[in-house]
Amino acid sequence: MKRTGVFYHDVCGKEAYNSLAMGVEEGFQSIKNEGLFNEPNVTWFESKPATEEEIARLHSREWIDEVRKTQWWRVSLYSVGGMIGATEKVLKGEIDNALVIAGVGGHHAHRDNAWGGCYFNVIGLGIPHARAKSLGRRFAIVDTDTHHADGVRDLYQNDEDVLHICFCDSFSWVYDSEDRLESKTKLCFPHGSSDEEEISNVEREVPERIREFKPEMIYWLCGMDTHRDSYGTAALTEGAYPRLAEIVKRAADDCCQGRLIVKTCCNAPPHATRYAVPRIVDCLAELGKYS
Ligand SMILES: [Zn+2]
Ligand SMILES: [Zn+2]
Repeated sequence: MKRTGVFYHDVCGKEAYNSLAMGVEEGFQSIKNEGLFNEPNVTWFESKPATEEEIARLHSREWIDEVRKTQWWRVSLYSVGGMIGATEKVLKGEIDNALVIAGVGGHHAHRDNAWGGCYFNVIGLGIPHARAKSLGRRFAIVDTDTHHADGVRDLYQNDEDVLHICFCDSFSWVYDSEDRLESKTKLCFPHGSSDEEEISNVEREVPERIREFKPEMIYWLCGMDTHRDSYGTAALTEGAYPRLAEIVKRAADDCCQGRLIVKTCCNAPPHATRYAVPRIVDCLAELGKYS
């Protein structure tokens, strides 16, 4: 069994950007209600707020000051702080893998601007933290949210130690072409229009590339706006997310001693996150409660 950490603070549920991140509280509570924290290898770590110094590793002081003026400041700090805590604990070997439940998005955040319920680049900020602490330098990011991760792509465009595999719906959104640049380590693939097609796309494009790249840890952005009752591709049932978790976890087990951080802002309705979130934890911790 794996030692799994869940990183969450009540601020992320209570102050979530809830027109998008509508299932945050329900997602966390369902882990509790299903009794998963009673398992000796599943631990809740209350997320701490990130510091401004930690955020300034990727964002400008001007942008930090802009976000400070909004109602999303606190939830952004706790969301990034959860990611930083998880990154440190997994890379130090104190836990094997982690789920970070954030109250805001992150992948549309650039150095000095952001959109779409994002303020700071939540996953992106894990990487400079790991490097600053000399805990790792080479990472893979898998992003299965509906939308193109323009912020992550922009921030890591020229960083050959970051493999970015992004599934995105290139037809319904218009992006600056410079935010979509592809290279050997920066790739975009289409979403599926059903559970089976999405799962086979991820199975085809992710594990082999990660094996070749040899990262020290994998970050998976488990966007849930692909759920059929959410606002994205509307293609998936809640049953798809635990199956995607199995694919990404297997890649981590094969390529980087299981080191994996899953980030979600629970951007699907509560009935979907209530089902999916505990099953993702079950997969990470190898509990086998639902199989
Ligand atoms: Zn999205
Ligand atoms: Zn993309």
